[in-house]
Amino acid sequence: IFALRSSYYFSTGVVEPSSSLRSPPRVPNLIGGKFVDSQSSSTIDVINPATQEVVSQIPLTTNEEFKAAVSAAKHAFPAWRNTPITTRQRVMLKLQELIRRDIDKLAMNITTEQGKTLKDAHGDVFRGLEVVEHACGMATLQMGEYVPNVANGIDTFSIREPLGVCAGICPFNFPAMIPLWMFPVAVTCGNTFVLKPSEKDPGENLLVHTLCIRFGAPLHGASIILAELAMEAGLPNGVLNIVHGTNDIVNAICDDDDIRAISFVGSNTAGMHIYSRASAKGKRVQSNMGAKNHAIVLPDANTNATLNALVAAGFGAAGQRCMALSTVVFVGDSQSWENKLVECAKSLKVNAGTEPDADLGPVISKQAKERVCKLIESGVESGARLLLDGRNIVVPGYEDGNFIGPTILSGVTADMDCYKEEIFGPVLLCMEADSFEEAIHFVNRNKYGNGAAIFTTSGSAARKFQTEIEAGQVGINVPIPVPLPFFSFTGSKASFAGDLNFYGKAGVNFFTQIKTITQQWKDLPGGGVSLAMPTSQ
Ligand code: NAD
Repeated sequence: IFALRSSYYFSTGVVEPSSSLRSPPRVPNLIGGKFVDSQSSSTIDVINPATQEVVSQIPLTTNEEFKAAVSAAKHAFPAWRNTPITTRQRVMLKLQELIRRDIDKLAMNITTEQGKTLKDAHGDVFRGLEVVEHACGMATLQMGEYVPNVANGIDTFSIREPLGVCAGICPFNFPAMIPLWMFPVAVTCGNTFVLKPSEKDPGENLLVHTLCIRFGAPLHGASIILAELAMEAGLPNGVLNIVHGTNDIVNAICDDDDIRAISFVGSNTAGMHIYSRASAKGKRVQSNMGAKNHAIVLPDANTNATLNALVAAGFGAAGQRCMALSTVVFVGDSQSWENKLVECAKSLKVNAGTEPDADLGPVISKQAKERVCKLIESGVESGARLLLDGRNIVVPGYEDGNFIGPTILSGVTADMDCYKEEIFGPVLLCMEADSFEEAIHFVNRNKYGNGAAIFTTSGSAARKFQTEIEAGQVGINVPIPVPLPFFSFTGSKASFAGDLNFYGKAGVNFFTQIKTITQQWKDLPGGGVSLAMPTSQ
């Protein structure tokens, strides 16, 4: 395998051989159109969460390398912003075609590094692909406005211009979708980009390399594959750059004077730090953060459809989705559905994501598993009833994996740590409310506002919910109401910091500066100087 891998790299010259010849492989940076091995001696292991195998290592990119990436983006900007919008759109048209071509490879890479099931990994790619498709219509999305003759012979129009160098900082849970929320919109608007993938699943891993060599197709991991595809689609060198690392590189991104805007997705601790540090430097920041998404279940809801939706949204991706439904508020008689919910959850198959029968895979790390188990324990100690306990699950063939089976805690109250903290694991909290009003009031007291759903057959209850609930994304009999890219991802309250959300119109506004031009093309008036405020009369 290593002989083959090295011959591939030597023959293509895609990357410095040193990074690819290492075992495990070291993930390269992408600077100015070249995949280059970092000179850093510090690395972090990327671990397959189902097996504990070290699949690759990421470098803690040096400051010089980071500066080189920003400089490459800065130098690529003037030519790229002057590239016709139709050409930029065509790169996206080609990119969406190439992502479809390589979707299986991308999904396999995601499952190996992140752990989610292959089917879910396909969804991860597909939801990002939809943003690329949307960016194909950028000429219309970026269009300005025009009002002729605002005063005698004077016209005013506005245009949206790219900002310059923008950056993206990603979490581990959607290794394809979230980079694709960011760079396609940014670059099609005419910006250049520096992407920092999550250190937990940056791409390039041994299993994927082994498979791709077997099938004759050179491969890296999600962010790296996406960047390769973008360049194959025609993105010029330097328009998209990738650097790896953790806090230091993130702080360097916040502080760099050449970076104009930062897209962040991740936890509140990192997100609020980045928001305040980068804003203090005058940058635009959009920061999508943590969540505690509630479902309110009314007794008139369709029982089976509701329970299936709760189980899918609570335990899918092992609960590691920012829009996972982690808390259910049963109203009135629907409280008696808890037993059926447990039966439904018990039927789920926990296995490595590569196994065809897997419904949910492992959580990302041993530390994550430990944290989730501690929160379950603290719930029990505070008086919650453990209706289903997935902590001691053993998956044959994957005994070392970070697996937690579906877990259900009932009788949870607002003061418990398991409720106050985002668990980010396959744990569903059940609470009870005597009335619909009480349930709405309860949900609104939570600090997060990413999403909330209601299950009911009553139109008036649904309407009351949609009006009164304080969450940015509302589902009515829809458990995970993530909007498609022609809308925006509109998390609110503590789940978002900034003004302009990801993708949709807001995403285009985020990555562009509006410029308003007032022009007069008639013979200039004579008759002396007037210092009075000009009016349109
Ligand atoms: P994380 O905050 O640990 O990491 C995200 C990024 O921030 C990484 O690239 C990491 O290197 C960097 N980072 C982490 N701590 C930092 C620090 N102290 N200083 C500077 N940089 C730092 O998040 P994660 O564990 O990778 O992802 C899970 C979190 O992301 C959950 O809270 C989840 O709800 C959230 N999330 C939110 C959305 C959304 O759209 N609202 C989507 C996906 C994930």
